[in-house]
Amino acid sequence: MKKILILGSTGSIGKNALEIIRNFKNEFRVTGLTVNDNIDLLEEQIKEFNPSSVVVKNKDRAKELRKRISSKCNIIEGEEGLLEVTKYEDYDILLSAIVGFAGLKPTIEAIKRGKRIALANKETLVVAGEIIIKLSKEYNSEIIPVDSEHSAIFQCIKGEDVTEVNKIILTASGGPFLNKSKEEFCNVTISEALNHPNWKMGNKISIDSATMMNKGLEIIEAYWLFGLPKEKIEVTIHPQSIIHSMVQFRDGSIKAQLSLPDMKLPILYALSYPHRLKYNQVITDIKKIGQLTFFEPDFDKFVCLKLAYDVIDQGGTAPCILNAANEVAVEKFLKGKIKFSQIPEIIEEALNVMNNHKNVTLENIIETDAKTREFLNKKYRD
Ligand code: NAD
Ligand code: MG
Repeated sequence: MKKILILGSTGSIGKNALEIIRNFKNEFRVTGLTVNDNIDLLEEQIKEFNPSSVVVKNKDRAKELRKRISSKCNIIEGEEGLLEVTKYEDYDILLSAIVGFAGLKPTIEAIKRGKRIALANKETLVVAGEIIIKLSKEYNSEIIPVDSEHSAIFQCIKGEDVTEVNKIILTASGGPFLNKSKEEFCNVTISEALNHPNWKMGNKISIDSATMMNKGLEIIEAYWLFGLPKEKIEVTIHPQSIIHSMVQFRDGSIKAQLSLPDMKLPILYALSYPHRLKYNQVITDIKKIGQLTFFEPDFDKFVCLKLAYDVIDQGGTAPCILNAANEVAVEKFLKGKIKFSQIPEIIEEALNVMNNHKNVTLENIIETDAKTREFLNKKYRD
């Protein structure tokens, strides 16, 4: 029986993970759940999964929940609560599924306790990849990707020698604006941008998919996870989202992982690894898939892809500046304060203005993140 602590249990990944756990009651047990402020859903989750502790980041909502819950569940509050719960010893796997920079510190705490990290929160690797990989080796903490592309690569590379990899091919659906022209990006609406053709996800990652910054973040995520130079990380558009990524080896052979676009499969794999459990909820019938197509991404239209490769070269805290600027820009777009086309412009501006610390320490990362947000929030006031 593996004990699981879920950070972000009311989100898209969190809910999918609980569905998996509901299906495998003899394999997994929930020991902790954390949320930002959605205590209505958390209350239901507590009743069903009976965790020993929960964290509500919003302190007022935590107080409200205490009035409602009569069970023994320990209700912790605030950002510090997120760190506290990861320090408990009563779990084996941390499912890191908070969105954005907020996932970084609690993930580090779990790594330092040698826990397995089922990593959905790609921003953690984007801003602090070097530190995370180093710590995971030092503390013997396995990082198993939940992101579908990285799960696919992880599965393809298993049993292979990484030095024999020619390249990895990250597939990208191209998002809702694959067939729009760059000129049309000025006028797209929030609901159009949120309307992903293949995946149902949280708002932030849905906008990232529309700008293709999601793939940009995934390039950086792959760079750190698989330790390959950026020249060996390629992106190909694959609108059907059936092949979740591929690995080509030096003899020319390509391995791919295929399944219907459903996050339950990579979540299950990250929890059950190195085993595979019998699961019949998401069955891919190869005969019904139809055509699979692939083509080059348009780097001129999707500037965020280029920016992601650039920050790998720039090194230091440049990926952290990119991430913070993207989080601020996406938030402002979702509030209707900026146009969709301004998202990459704002990120480029931050990369030009902000100081890139070449010395990557956690302190420098936290400072860079805060300063980038401060600069952009001042300049693009709500
Ligand atoms: P979501 O917005 O649906 O859920 C986010 C969860 O985190 C919620 O439970 C929310 O309460 C909590 N949360 C949000 N901000 C917080 C904060 N500041 N402090 C504490 N808790 C906070 O997001 P999601 O789509 O589930 O994505 C989660 C992560 O997984 C992201 O990093 C995303 O890139 C990654 N991911 C998601 C998918 C997907 O299909 N949704 C696929 C691959 C990777
Ligand atoms: Mg992905």
